[in-house]
This record gives sequence, C-alpha cells and structure tokens, in this order.
Amino acid sequence: MARYAGPVCRFCRREGLKLFLKAERCYTDKCSFERNQYPPGQHGQNRRLRVSDYGLQLREKQKVKRIYGLLEKSFRSYYVEAARRKGNTGELLLALLENRFDNTIFRMGFAGSRSEARQLLNHGHFLVNGRKLDISSYQMCIGDVVTVREASQKMTRIIEAAERAINRPQMSWLEVDTDKFTGKVLTFPVRAELTLPITENLIVELYSR
Ligand code: SF4
Repeated sequence: MARYAGPVCRFCRREGLKLFLKAERCYTDKCSFERNQYPPGQHGQNRRLRVSDYGLQLREKQKVKRIYGLLEKSFRSYYVEAARRKGNTGELLLALLENRFDNTIFRMGFAGSRSEARQLLNHGHFLVNGRKLDISSYQMCIGDVVTVREASQKMTRIIEAAERAINRPQMSWLEVDTDKFTGKVLTFPVRAELTLPITENLIVELYSR
C-alpha cells in the first residue's frame, strides 16, 4: 500500500500540536515542535491566522489522517464505513481507526509509534490468535489475542517500547501482559478515552459537503 515516507515532524508544526509520530524522540527535547512552534516552510512564521470553515474542517481531517499514518483514499474509506454504520459517524470513524492492527500494537505498548508498529508487523513479529498476521489495516475482533513472536521477544526495540509505554495511558478496551508479551482485545475502542484534541464532527462536515 502506498505510504508517505518523507519527514513527519513538519506535520506537527503544520497542525500546531504534537502528533507523536516518532517513537522516543517525541518525548525528548529533540522534538522539533518543542523548538519551532510555527508552521514549516520559508513563510511559516508569517502565515495568516484567519481560517475559513472549510480550512478548519480540512485541517482537522489532515491532522487525524497524519496521526494514523493514512493516505486520503484509505482514510476516506474509513469515513464511508463509519457513515454506513448506525451511530455517531465521527465517533465511529475514530473507533475504526483505533481498531486497526498497527494502532492496537502501538496501544498495547509493543511499539513506540504507529509507524514503528507497522514496520514491525510487516516483518512478521506479531501473531494474532497464534497465527502470523502482517496486515496493518486488519480490524481487530473482540477476543483477539496479540502475541509478540517468541523469537522477537528478545528484540531491544520491542523491549524498550514496552518499558516506555508504562508511562502512556492504558486503554480500557485492551488487556496487556507486558511480561508475557501478549495482549487481548476486550471491546470495541471507546472514543472518550482518546485524549488527543480531535473534533471529529469537522471531518464529517467536510466529507458531507
Ligand atoms: Fe511531532 Fe514527535 Fe517530531 Fe515532536 S518529535 S515534532 S511530537 S513527530
């Protein structure tokens, strides 16, 4: 699947908040956003502050797309699926994104970022219900058990990510046993627990135009 492979810190500066797109670097003073809190580019510091309604909606969509590391086509397909289901479309959109396999690995703490989770799972380091799974967009099912493959449990990257994840908020829909390198999906993701400032209704308004 096509994926953006360029520098990502500029996205945080563009959106005006930390999106935590890298692993440990986001939590240190090497974070680019901590040092330059203005939009990227030659005229970043002189940019106009007035933004239209459309501009606000667009920025919100771009922000969420970047948090989950998706390109437009696949992001839109999540919106279409959320709109098809019964319930609040914005909340369903975020829940579907949270329910991806790569995000679940990140939330369980076996990777420092979603992009690192994607890279690790592509290399076959994780099992779901005992079978290797390397599809980052897989929608988790209630009861799915994720395990770090035995040979991969010695990987410094995974061990360090699990140690650092202790300081991150734990999601109630996941049960994790870091010592055994395993985690279980208990329920569908809960919107109320997502702490990043996201106004999902703006995205719904944008796509409903
Ligand atoms: Fe964003 Fe992380 Fe880069 Fe900081 S280090 S600007 S939080 S991606």
